[in-house]
Amino acid sequence: MTKGSINVSVENIFPLIKKFLYSDHEIFLRELISNATDATLKLKHLTNIGEAKVEYGNPQIEVKIDKDAKKLHIIDQGLGMTAEEVEKYINQVAFSGAEEFLDKYKDSAKDSGIIGHFGLGFYSAFMVAEKVEIITKSFKDEPAAHWTCDGSPEFTLEAADKTERGTEIILHIAEDSTEFLEESRIRELLNKYNKFMPVPIKFGTKEINDPEHEPATITDKDGKETKEPHRQITVDDIINNPNPAWTKQPTDLKDDDYKNFYRELYPMQFEEPLFNIHLNVDYPFNLTGILYFPKMGQDMNIQKDRIQLYQNQVFVTDNVEGIVPEFLTMLRGVIDSPDIPLNVSRSYLQADGAVKKISSYITRKVADKLKSLFNSNREDFEAKWNDIKVVIEYGMLSEEKFFEKADAFALYPTVDGTYYTYEELFNKIKANQTDKDDKLVILYASDKDAQHSYIESAKAKGYEVLLLDSPIVSHLIQKLETSKENISFARVDGDHIDNLIKKDDNTISKLDEDQKKTLDELLKDVIPSDKFMVQLEAMDSSANPFIITQPEFMRRMKE
Ligand code: ADP
Ligand code: MG
Repeated sequence: MTKGSINVSVENIFPLIKKFLYSDHEIFLRELISNATDATLKLKHLTNIGEAKVEYGNPQIEVKIDKDAKKLHIIDQGLGMTAEEVEKYINQVAFSGAEEFLDKYKDSAKDSGIIGHFGLGFYSAFMVAEKVEIITKSFKDEPAAHWTCDGSPEFTLEAADKTERGTEIILHIAEDSTEFLEESRIRELLNKYNKFMPVPIKFGTKEINDPEHEPATITDKDGKETKEPHRQITVDDIINNPNPAWTKQPTDLKDDDYKNFYRELYPMQFEEPLFNIHLNVDYPFNLTGILYFPKMGQDMNIQKDRIQLYQNQVFVTDNVEGIVPEFLTMLRGVIDSPDIPLNVSRSYLQADGAVKKISSYITRKVADKLKSLFNSNREDFEAKWNDIKVVIEYGMLSEEKFFEKADAFALYPTVDGTYYTYEELFNKIKANQTDKDDKLVILYASDKDAQHSYIESAKAKGYEVLLLDSPIVSHLIQKLETSKENISFARVDGDHIDNLIKKDDNTISKLDEDQKKTLDELLKDVIPSDKFMVQLEAMDSSANPFIITQPEFMRRMKE
């Protein structure tokens, strides 16, 4: 038996680990399963290249609770460690990991985000365990090793009689962490962090219908037919899907595969996504993922169903702020990239070159996808417009690059349900809707019912009236007015409409001059002329003898 002291530069690292990782102590399981996965994938690689002359087989990772003994086991069938390797990787890596931890911590103690995702790896086990054992047998022909450490820098290392290859980590769960002996809590964690990890993870067993057994039909004495019950069998409960859709090639996936994966990601979402965007790039950074445009409905739960960030199929966070442009955080799905630095603060993240590139890549992919949807099936695109416009309009406002691209597919619906692109609208109205300065005037309404008579009036004059009712429409109008040359937007119930130069003026009042005069007198007293304008002209298609307008400049002053 070897006795030794873990090489740490401070008296005792464990109180530090406990203290500073406390808010995120549940990540210990993610770390240990990540190590078990690494050990398995390393072995796979070594057998592939012929360096390990053993049968790789179908290795899995098992998580087991021994509630009575207050132990949690994580068992893998990976490459294992020799006693020498335990010395090297466990005892000494703790030293460098700890030092790095302390360095990082010094500069940025205020930023709680930093610690949360800082990979302390194996030693995070001590956040929840008062004692940790490693029993490991290398794939190499060497005896197994048994390492024990009780949370002080002292450890013991001795030979063990484990014969099967792989590593078993045993956590003796501490008094203040007994929640991690609860099946439901561990299942919750496995679901959160490990749902798509690449090696199958077993957690207990479950009963399923025996696929080999076809229930027979039983006919009773009255001739009534019933099916005999399914035969149940007990199988391993594998909690993860080792081959999630985003790790596959887009060409290998059908529409249904994307929809099924959406359901896997958000089991509580019953609404189907509108469409998806498969991200797949390996230069100048590595990134895969699938983004979905959700249907913006009342069951939108922006807080809960968010884009999830993974690194090599390990869940990291569902706070993608700083990585995904803000206007796309309303989307759902996953992104997986080993190139996103996580042990840094959010503000650093936003300044990071690689992250900036990732963010603009995502923006470009989303714009390209929207464009191709628009080009390939315009009718469908129009049908979805109401659900996607918030994201698109928000993107046009916040990302110049997106604005430029969106010009080709952003739609401007009229009150009659015709959808124009900007260019189409421009061509449609340029001859008929300019003011005396030759400026194009785009008329719009925001409420079809409230502005009904004005809309009718404008239509009667042959004008196009857009229906712009998004919450951010006033900002969008401003943006368009400044980006497009020589145009202005005017509310259909504003006074601009009278200044338009029309080719064929067909708005001849139904009132004769005397009637107009009488009416004028009457209205003068009841309608303040500094706020409203009265137009005594009839709309030929409606019964309105006059309309009251509020001048555009006054409205703007009020707003
Ligand atoms: P990291 O995973 O970042 O290298 P860890 O502290 O998580 O750091 O693990 C330290 C090292 O211990 C690993 O790199 C690996 O060599 C070894 N190790 C940990 N867990 C296992 C395991 N289950 N099987 C084999 N080796 C392991
Ligand atoms: Mg690790």
